[in-house]
Amino acid sequence: MEKKNIDWGNLGFGYVQTDYRFVSDFKNGSWDEGKLTEDATVVINECAGVLQYAQTVFEGMKAYTTEDGRIVTFRPDLNAERMENSAKRLEMPVFPKDRFIQAVVDTVKANAAYVPPFGSGATLYIRPYMFGTNPVIGVKPADEYQFRVFTTPVGPYFKGGVKPLTIRVTDFDRAAPHGTGHIKAGLNYAMSMHAIMDAHRQGYDENMYLDAATRTKVEETGGANFLFVTKDGKVVTPKSDSILPSITRRSLIYVAQHCLGLEAEEREVTLEEVKDFAECGLCGTAAVISPVGKIVDHGKEICFPSGMTEMGPVTKKLYEALTGIQMGRLEAPEGWLQVIE
Ligand SMILES: *Cc1c(COP(=O)(O)O)cnc(C)c1O
Repeated sequence: MEKKNIDWGNLGFGYVQTDYRFVSDFKNGSWDEGKLTEDATVVINECAGVLQYAQTVFEGMKAYTTEDGRIVTFRPDLNAERMENSAKRLEMPVFPKDRFIQAVVDTVKANAAYVPPFGSGATLYIRPYMFGTNPVIGVKPADEYQFRVFTTPVGPYFKGGVKPLTIRVTDFDRAAPHGTGHIKAGLNYAMSMHAIMDAHRQGYDENMYLDAATRTKVEETGGANFLFVTKDGKVVTPKSDSILPSITRRSLIYVAQHCLGLEAEEREVTLEEVKDFAECGLCGTAAVISPVGKIVDHGKEICFPSGMTEMGPVTKKLYEALTGIQMGRLEAPEGWLQVIE
């Protein structure tokens, strides 16, 4: 298979249209068999549920070329399960797990020419999503839905080296207790747009959201979970029912415990104790881990000992181990890699 003529090393994180996408429609209570299509447009009624009441959920994952030339995805079963939970919370039909995985495999295979080569630093980002398509004007769930999977090649997250982020503690809330913070729904992003633009205007890279009930505990940013390292080298991630269960974060905890011999725990983390950590990072599919150098809480600066020029040593070890597994340089735990071809 001939690769597309793309300058892989200079790709950013943007949409590049690829040749094929998977589409399946839900009508009269069931999903059709679905198909790959070259048509990148979606045509829906002006009153579609997604347009009026934001009935849409999504996933984000990647395909990688391994050192030995295979194309793989990372733990797609967990994305399928998370999308199932997201759909149920918004009263949408579930796209079955085995079909979700097959749709991802088929779409990546059809776009194999767009999967960046090993060593380029780039990957193929995969976006499964689902939305209500039929007209709804009274507030209620749609009866008809579309499930789609498209792919787009994306650049290395750390182009020209890693630059630790500066984050502010925000007064905006992301998720309410018993709300929708734990599902991957567009609505959680719509309400974060103002907060992130406001943060950028003030010179910060991201927002640290606190728990909405007490405003004393660390939740996450708009699109990534926090990971901390204590001064004695223990990995700690915040536990809360209103943060998105990041697959990267769960995988890093496992890697810390089982591959690196580190202690790791998921527990409540107070804002008060953040100053005592040695390292901080943000984890998610896009960057694996982005180091955080500084957190600003209403003018009070928390500067991590790892500094503003590089990743902390434990963060770096975790980063190397997880990307090593994803790129096939290190042996993956059973079932973590889905080989596409
Ligand atoms: C997608 C997402 C993450 C990261 O999840 P991964 O499965 O690791 O990609 C974290 N927080 C939020 C709010 C997200 O939407």
